[in-house]
Amino acid sequence: MIEEDEITRTRKHREEFESRVTQLKELGAPQIIIDEEIMISQMTHRGYENYKAQRKKEAKEERKNWIKNNPMRKEVVENIFTWFDNTELSEGDKDGLLCGCGMCLGIIMDPCGYHIGMTKEEFEYDLYRDLIKGLAEKKGPTIDL
Ligand SMILES: [Zn+2]
Repeated sequence: MIEEDEITRTRKHREEFESRVTQLKELGAPQIIIDEEIMISQMTHRGYENYKAQRKKEAKEERKNWIKNNPMRKEVVENIFTWFDNTELSEGDKDGLLCGCGMCLGIIMDPCGYHIGMTKEEFEYDLYRDLIKGLAEKKGPTIDL
């Protein structure tokens, strides 16, 4: 029964977010964050799925616009090439760089650190992601299957 499922999921969703709201209040989180969680806690399960999809679309659009106005800087591009030239990538490093998430990138390359020289914004908007993925693909170890 599809409708039953949705009711159950919505009940679970609300319980989860209501307890998150309580927790955030206890931690003294900023009101703007608490307000958003309260809004989410009042959604249905399906409504929340749609909301997430919409936010993802907006974030993608935002990144596209930001990148349009913030081209890659030569200095950072050179640092990235130098880093790849001087680094022996392990299979794990390569996987992490191909993952593309900021956490893997941070651990492997320290992108906001001194030697790569990305700004926090460049890092957050993944400005050099495609370049890094391309280089990881090209220079990383290949597995013979
Ligand atoms: Zn990752």
